[in-house]
Amino acid sequence: MDFNGKVAVVTGGAHGIGRAVSLGFARHGARVVVVDRDAEAGEAVAAEIGKSAIFRQADVTRAADVEAFVQAALDNFGAIDCFHNNAGIEGKVAPTAEYEEAVFDAVMGVNVKGVFLGLRHVLPVMIRQGRGAVVNTASIAGLVGTVGMPAYVASKHAVIGLTKVAAGEVGPQGIRVNAICPGPIATRMVQDIAKQVSPNNPEGVEERYAASLPLRRYGTPEEVANLVLFLCSDLAGNITGAQYVVDGGRTAVPAGIS
Ligand code: NAD
Repeated sequence: MDFNGKVAVVTGGAHGIGRAVSLGFARHGARVVVVDRDAEAGEAVAAEIGKSAIFRQADVTRAADVEAFVQAALDNFGAIDCFHNNAGIEGKVAPTAEYEEAVFDAVMGVNVKGVFLGLRHVLPVMIRQGRGAVVNTASIAGLVGTVGMPAYVASKHAVIGLTKVAAGEVGPQGIRVNAICPGPIATRMVQDIAKQVSPNNPEGVEERYAASLPLRRYGTPEEVANLVLFLCSDLAGNITGAQYVVDGGRTAVPAGIS
């Protein structure tokens, strides 16, 4: 994969999957705009990459922030070739019958409105350019239900819907839009979920879940980054409107008898 001369923008680029994607794009020659609400960690990722990266602090739920990082990419690097629309939050683990309305709104705000605003402000740039590739981060929670995570599951199903609509709209202009569906990946997010499920023994939750996966382990952020880079690369030139799992076999084999 060769991203020399290309410009990549990554939201949620300060931690976890977005961090690995930012570093991966840079390693393959791209100039990178790292976007996150966490300024300290985001600046650190840009510094680790060096002069071919900038950091922009943004809350993806705010249109003005999104417009500002899009403009920063254009002002500094002149184009947006690849966009990883990735920032997301998990919300609380609680049954639908008890789920707090404010938490539901917060999850939908980041995971759905945030992804929409990214598309809303990046696609016009790509349409003007006549080229571009977008990868939206959904989840296997966008394909199947997860008990106790109604907002997260609804939000990730919505990300897949937004992906399909955008792919149909901008395909004629040579722009591809795909979604990725990670399973459990070793980042802060899954640690937070495990802590909510079992505050006294989060490691036990992770161990049991990992043991139930066909590959018997969580994925790494780098393994997800490999898929994102592939989908943004010319190697994926005929792929659009699709969703790809990277989940250690979770959705293929939901449960085993043992
Ligand atoms: P993470 O918490 O390590 O990273 C998420 C990043 O998004 C953080 O840097 C955070 O500061 C940023 N962010 C959150 N809200 C934001 C906002 N409003 N504006 C700007 N930035 C914001 O978690 P991760 O696991 O790397 O998650 C990345 C994406 O992958 C998310 O969309 C998540 O839902 C998805 N995902 C993760 C897993 C997993 O197992 N880790 C599985 C499936 C999907």
